Amino acid sequence: MSIADNLKKIQSKVPDHVTLVAISKTKPAEAVQEAYHAGQLHFGENKVQEMTEKQEQLPHNIFWHQVGHLQRNKVKYIAPYVHLIHSVDSVKLLLEIQKQAKKQERTIQALLQIHIAEEDTKFGLNEAELIQLLEDPELLTLNGVLISGMMGMATNTSDEKQVAREFKGLRELFEKTKDRFSSHPHCMWNTLSMGMSGDYRIAIEEGSNMIRVGSAIFGERNYK
Ligand SMILES: *Cc1c(COP(=O)(O)O)cnc(C)c1O
Repeated sequence: MSIADNLKKIQSKVPDHVTLVAISKTKPAEAVQEAYHAGQLHFGENKVQEMTEKQEQLPHNIFWHQVGHLQRNKVKYIAPYVHLIHSVDSVKLLLEIQKQAKKQERTIQALLQIHIAEEDTKFGLNEAELIQLLEDPELLTLNGVLISGMMGMATNTSDEKQVAREFKGLRELFEKTKDRFSSHPHCMWNTLSMGMSGDYRIAIEEGSNMIRVGSAIFGERNYK
């Protein structure tokens, strides 16, 4: 199956209100180009340097998503063009995004990454840390940042009930937070990013409106 075929197959299962982000990490720019020609406009990467190299080579109407852990000293490289940062987990990182957004005279959108999996390798905020972050008065200074929602990764398990339970928990936390912080000047609460190649169908059932799919589009990744 070609990249275009894979995309078509996935798109046919994804309702219109769900944005498909094609995760192209470790794949060459040619693979992104192929997906782009098949109509795909949203792409995600987890390494700043790799994303920036592709961004420079590829059409400039592509929407680039940062999905991996983001170091503060790397924000400046993606600030000129990044569409959405999925992996914010601290006020310090938000303040750096704010600083770089100001320099670029743009607003950068970010999602708060929430820890929902059993594994403690998948980083992110728990509920108490989330509330603490949102109540931090420094957040009121973030004119160049828009917190537009949340992102989470479920446990890597074949137990679909567990995966569904974790996504449901995130959905409920999202709704609760949306109600409680609905009038926050720098929050919008319109995006819930959950679901990858192995679990996006479950995620959509549980209320996701943004899925991040890599290997089901581009094939397995070979890590060096
Ligand atoms: C790699 C990655 C994905 C895509 O994973 P697949 O299983 O290949 O679909 C999604 N989200 C994040 C945060 C990733 O790092």
